[in-house]
Amino acid sequence: MIERARRRGQGAIPAIAALLALLAWPAAVVALGPPALRAVEAEVLLWLLLALLGPATAAGVLARAALRRSVATADAVGEALRRSEARFRDFAEAASDWLWETDAAGRFTYLSDRHRAVLGVAPETRLGKTRWEVGLPEADGDLGKWARLRRDLDERRPIRDFRYRLRNTRGELLHIEINGKPVFDEAGRFLGYRGTGRDVTAEVEAAERAQHLALHDALTELPNRILFRERLEVAAAAAVRQNSLAAVLCIDLDHFKDVNDTRGHAAGDLVLKEAADRLREMVREADTVARLGGDEFAVLQTDVGSLADVQALCQRLVDAFRRPFAVDGHPAHLGLSIGVALAPVDADNPDDLLRHADLALYRAKSEARGEFRLFEPVMDAQLRARKQLEQDLREALQRDELMLEYQPQVALASGRIVAAEALVRWRHPRHGLLGPGSFIPIAEQTGLILPLGAWILRAACAEAARWPGGVRVSVNLSPIQVRQRRLVDEVCEALHATGLAADRLELEITENILLKDTAQVLEVLGALKELGVLIAMDDFGTGYSSLGYLQRFPFDKLKIDRCFVRDLFVSSGSAAIIRAVIGLGRGLGISVLAEGVETEAQLGFLEREGCAAVQGFHLARPMPGAELARRLAQHYGRTDASTALLPAPGLAETPAPFALGGGGAEPTTEQALRQVLGLGEGSLWRDAGWSASRARAPEPLSACSRSA
Ligand code: C2E
Ligand code: MG
Ligand code: MG
Repeated sequence: MIERARRRGQGAIPAIAALLALLAWPAAVVALGPPALRAVEAEVLLWLLLALLGPATAAGVLARAALRRSVATADAVGEALRRSEARFRDFAEAASDWLWETDAAGRFTYLSDRHRAVLGVAPETRLGKTRWEVGLPEADGDLGKWARLRRDLDERRPIRDFRYRLRNTRGELLHIEINGKPVFDEAGRFLGYRGTGRDVTAEVEAAERAQHLALHDALTELPNRILFRERLEVAAAAAVRQNSLAAVLCIDLDHFKDVNDTRGHAAGDLVLKEAADRLREMVREADTVARLGGDEFAVLQTDVGSLADVQALCQRLVDAFRRPFAVDGHPAHLGLSIGVALAPVDADNPDDLLRHADLALYRAKSEARGEFRLFEPVMDAQLRARKQLEQDLREALQRDELMLEYQPQVALASGRIVAAEALVRWRHPRHGLLGPGSFIPIAEQTGLILPLGAWILRAACAEAARWPGGVRVSVNLSPIQVRQRRLVDEVCEALHATGLAADRLELEITENILLKDTAQVLEVLGALKELGVLIAMDDFGTGYSSLGYLQRFPFDKLKIDRCFVRDLFVSSGSAAIIRAVIGLGRGLGISVLAEGVETEAQLGFLEREGCAAVQGFHLARPMPGAELARRLAQHYGRTDASTALLPAPGLAETPAPFALGGGGAEPTTEQALRQVLGLGEGSLWRDAGWSASRARAPEPLSACSRSA
């Protein structure tokens, strides 16, 4: 266009020369005339001259105007183009992206300077070469991706967000994104590609960080449940496809809760980190260790040759955790329990594999901590049964299926029944009579213990209100109840509604309640004590709590756990412990009762040691409230309720209330009890219809611990 304008301008030159000669004098007027006249637009003057000179000169004048316009247009276009080029250069230099162009053969014909700034490569070294002649970046070996790019270029398709990795001349690993489109001329001929390139490293790294956080545990840096599940899915599919084995190990730290509760959360965190390290050390590179949450970990073992490989790994892990952990310079003994499921034998999908390994873990924990168990299909059935039991328990309260039995407690000094412990039972419509051991843990896990506990409290108070004399009722409390301030109101209401005097209610708690939320628990216990109810520590000697709590809270009674009584003549330690607890009670002014008295010999020992009270099958099994009430009433109906029933040998400070056997001879403890409980000669044991030992699994002779 500029050219055309120029050519038109050149053609007009002779005509202009002639015209200039003709117009010499008026032009002089314009040039030399007064300023006002000079100020007149030259074009107007020319038109005036045109009128004077006539049509002969019109053509020349018009030609001159055309030339002027053409030259002006050409200059404007040139200027615009220069500006546009400068603008393009500025944009190209300022942009974070670089621009590139290739010819139809794929050779670079243009690379903006930004390319050099980012990659450290001079554009000149690339010009005239194709991408493939330049060579693929070593940092990105995904050949499939490059092959796809080449195909797209060959087929002249647009390139969208093609990303690759590359190490620049400064050695930095960069992530690059390329976009481009094919260029065609007006006739539709392919001219090459034009596009942009940009450094997306920051973007990719931010996304990777977010991805890492979403898939890893912040404390241990191990993969989390989501990532573990993803890897498990891949491994399970591979095991099915290749007919190989993969193992899922669900792992739980034994006694971690104790470390957390007693030494604080910071110490707990250190233990978790160290546990993660130990696990990582034990597995191969290809295996995955993950933290699923809390003290739950998992291992995915791939390419398993045989079951023996899995067992060997489990054993190595268990052994590695036998070494104590150092927490604040003090050793902490933890241990591992492991549940194992195999793909594809036990399941072929990640969810079932995890569920099965979890079931096996549950079994490992309940049978013997510090060991591993392999999944067995029966475990699944057991879980379903448990779920059903949970559902049944929800309905049990409404359907009036729960009941209490009462086991007498006898004061050895007087031989009197001074109290009875309320023990809950469930008349299950299909399973028959169930002991607390089979449903209290479920009630605690589901929160049902709160309504259940409130019902037990009310029912026990109502029953005891009918008993003669000052016989007290003793009610077991779950730790979950004691952590609720509302317990105090519930106790108040139960006493008020039933008319039972506060000092006839005794509440039993276990030592472990005091491990956690101690201040709040002590506050609740204090409020209960202010009401006038008595507080007993149950199963004393089996928990983890410190003797210091005996100083911090004025317990009314210590109940020596039955395992010490059972082992009395088996282990000398048990006798020593019983003696020590009796001494402790005496020193602190706390009454001591021994549980689980099953033989005359045990009873004799406790009497000699000065134990205040006893409870056990030798004296009486738990019995329905009506039966106990009937027997107490029968007896108390004839005698004063406060009268001693049982003057023990050597403790005959209280006169015998009734004749035993005749002849006025002093009755033995056993005879007196038989009478008061309405039993004939022979065994004192009443067949309760179900065995109390079912509620608590038989313990090994040496172990006196109650599973927490
Ligand atoms: P516990 O409070 O220590 O209750 C004593 C348990 O020992 C009772 O078992 C009782 O039947 C049993 N027992 C009594 N004398 C003997 C004996 O001479 N030999 C043997 N081998 N056992 C004896 P039970 O009724 O199965 O209760 C077990 C545990 O369940 C109780 O231990 C208590 O911790 C819990 N429990 C029972 N009733 C309740 C309740 O109403 N609420 C709560 N939260 N827990 C309860
Ligand atoms: Mg108890
Ligand atoms: Mg007990």
